[in-house]
Amino acid sequence: MALVCHNCKKRAQRGNRVSHSKIRTHRKFMANLHVHWISVKGKKVRAKFCSNCLRALRKSEKPIISVQASSVSQI
Ligand SMILES: [Zn+2]
Repeated sequence: MALVCHNCKKRAQRGNRVSHSKIRTHRKFMANLHVHWISVKGKKVRAKFCSNCLRALRKSEKPIISVQASSVSQI
């Protein structure tokens, strides 16, 4: 799973780029993802998290519960 937050499943969204003359073309709003090492069942694995989830992880210093070991191993 690429470019998806492993905690909240946030991903890119679509929208329009609007010029001054109101001509609309498609664009993507990417999620602010960062690679972070976490421990799942005693193993250290890499996972991508959005900046909001990383901030919550650093503040609480609790392990992220919703991350599944099977989804992390596909990185
Ligand atoms: Zn997230």
